[in-house]
Amino acid sequence: MNEILNMNINEMANISFDCSCGKTHHLDIRKIVMGSNVISELPSILEDFKRKKIYILSDNNTWKAAGEKVYHTLKGNHFDVSSTMIERDENILIPDEKAVGEMFMGLPADTGMIISVGSGTLNDMAKYMSSRAKIPYTIVCTAPSMDGYASSGAPLMNGGRKISYTATLPYAIIGDTDIMKNAPMKMILAGYGDIIGKLTALADWKLSHEITGEYYCETIVKLVQKAINKVVDTRFDLAKRDEDAIFYLIEALILTGVAMGLIGVSRPASGAEHMLSHYWEMAVIATGKNPELHGIKVGIATPIITKIFDKMKDTLPESVFKMAPSAKYTTQLLRDVNAPINPQEAGIDNDLFYRSILEGNTVRKRYSILDYAVKHGNIEKIADEITRNYYMDI
Ligand SMILES: [Zn+2]
Ligand SMILES: [Zn+2]
Repeated sequence: MNEILNMNINEMANISFDCSCGKTHHLDIRKIVMGSNVISELPSILEDFKRKKIYILSDNNTWKAAGEKVYHTLKGNHFDVSSTMIERDENILIPDEKAVGEMFMGLPADTGMIISVGSGTLNDMAKYMSSRAKIPYTIVCTAPSMDGYASSGAPLMNGGRKISYTATLPYAIIGDTDIMKNAPMKMILAGYGDIIGKLTALADWKLSHEITGEYYCETIVKLVQKAINKVVDTRFDLAKRDEDAIFYLIEALILTGVAMGLIGVSRPASGAEHMLSHYWEMAVIATGKNPELHGIKVGIATPIITKIFDKMKDTLPESVFKMAPSAKYTTQLLRDVNAPINPQEAGIDNDLFYRSILEGNTVRKRYSILDYAVKHGNIEKIADEITRNYYMDI
């Protein structure tokens, strides 16, 4: 029944199965193709669009990394291709009105397929465009930096504020490990941080299931845990950009998206660690500064959330506490790959940090250990202790 646990990620596209949780899970992504040099398979992956116009989106970095190769591979196989490459001096593409506008204005009439070449930002813009223009899109991943490749939400900047737009899932996800292993190390560490954050996200989901009776799927939890384990087991090879380690990382990132797609909620991917990260991000954006990469912040937030689980362990249901890793373990997981550990490394000051522990639960309505600590513990004392742990030198 739950044979999905033994499947290769390339086999999960378009899957539908009756799960032991009582639901029928279905994934609305047609193709997932991962491995070495899979960009060269694009002409056959997109053969249904051979007679239609293809529109490629990239920026100056992703054009060089993979866009150029995608363009020439399709052109060489007689596809009708056009492309918009957004150039930004400071090398940081903000998904705002100007960038989204530039992409829409380059869109040829009667386009049949949009291909986005990039990671977070370009993917978010493409899925937004796809949902509004009703044109399917394919994502060619350039960095294993975050888990949004297979998710339908598109966070974009509008009027200086970050707004999460409902968008659509991709037609195809192309994860070429030859491209992604060359991504900047900071982006690889960000993807790793986003994966480590799933450890607390799953514990939060279990907590909510026990306390509020929220829907919970054991199969999905096992699926995500299995992917996390492979990343953890190969973590020391990430520094060498080892092919297998990069493959497991991108597999886990895509798979958490697949898990979300299968159940229609982001529970397996995001818990209290994401709330802290969002709280910090909004505060940093409000000061006009560029925030640290999403996954770097999530990585930093994970041991902090495990500290709260540790402090609440006397009253937590045992089944929940068993799922929450220790602060020592999660800190070591970050240390082992030389990822940032202290919130100060993400530009978070003492005061903002303290407030984020107190108010992190207000970021969104989603039951987590932060709500539990506010109700059943002394959150001021917890916030005070953890702040001193990280800001001792101040
Ligand atoms: Zn299920
Ligand atoms: Zn994330």
